[in-house]
Amino acid sequence: MQLPSGKNPMQLPSHTETKIIRHVKVEGDASPYDGNLIYWSSRIGKHPEATMRVATLLKSQEGRCTYCRMYFRDEDVLEIDHIIPKSLRGKDEYKNLQILHRHCHDEKTTEDGSVVKYT
Ligand SMILES: [Zn+2]
Repeated sequence: MQLPSGKNPMQLPSHTETKIIRHVKVEGDASPYDGNLIYWSSRIGKHPEATMRVATLLKSQEGRCTYCRMYFRDEDVLEIDHIIPKSLRGKDEYKNLQILHRHCHDEKTTEDGSVVKYT
């Protein structure tokens, strides 16, 4: 018996043969920053561009401070940091920006060479 031309003799696997790979859920239903982007943004800056930056950065950092890895919380004071300080020719663009706690920002700033130290 010959297959009619144009028909593929291969069979698609049936549903029961197909492995189910379930999406691993991120721990904790409500991330501390969920729905709070506007809140944080409005706390950091009134300028529309600052607001956008904060929202974008918070999202990419998943609501965590990149310095101490802790989630930002309501009472925290946030600051936008230049990863490579502007004084060291760091650029004012997203890949060079991060949001840190104010106190983390202070610490980081003393380590990143952006503060001129007089000995
Ligand atoms: Zn921090």
